[in-house]
Amino acid sequence: MASAEKKKWYACDEHVDIALDEIVDMYEHAPLMELMDDEPNDQATCFWCGQTPRYVLQIANQEETAEEDA
Ligand SMILES: [Zn+2]
Repeated sequence: MASAEKKKWYACDEHVDIALDEIVDMYEHAPLMELMDDEPNDQATCFWCGQTPRYVLQIANQEETAEEDA
């Protein structure tokens, strides 16, 4: 498993605030936040309550060096 992968969480309307808090707490960076208005994703569930998520939160790698770690 690659350890340098982007981190990704799903959150519903209710938990998106908590999600932001926790992620900023853990990584000391605000995550990218996107609304999931496109296609519902069956496999995605809110990380905090397990319900249908509304947002995707992602932490990108700080270093913008080569994507492929040679
Ligand atoms: Zn939730």
